[in-house]
Amino acid sequence: MTYHIPSDEKVRKAVKKVFEKYRTVSSQRKLKKLVEKELKTKKKEFHVSESRLRNLVLKSGLVRIEIYSREGDPDKILNRCPVCNNSLKRVKNLTIWGGEVTIEFRCSNCGYWTGKKKRIPTLYVFHLKK
Ligand SMILES: [Zn+2]
Repeated sequence: MTYHIPSDEKVRKAVKKVFEKYRTVSSQRKLKKLVEKELKTKKKEFHVSESRLRNLVLKSGLVRIEIYSREGDPDKILNRCPVCNNSLKRVKNLTIWGGEVTIEFRCSNCGYWTGKKKRIPTLYVFHLKK
């Protein structure tokens, strides 16, 4: 069996079908399996990488992605969003009490944010938008 790479359009359609069946998909791996099952025909099997799928899902506007993460290295420089590879925006916050500045990084594309301890995504949960 040889594997095929589906077009963006095909993946989008399969994602739509998956979310007609399930309102929530509890991990990226599960979503990949469901989408590949949806794409499969008698003659062809398709492969879609998890990061490509995640970005197509984000672009579809159909699904909200809930990001679970663990704390990462505070010294790590983060220029790009670990979720969607968009460039991150630096946001400075003045705290009320000490006048201390805390830095946050936000992604305007997918909603990822992180403080000093860089959040490393470990799990993605996908919810159908209402
Ligand atoms: Zn992002």
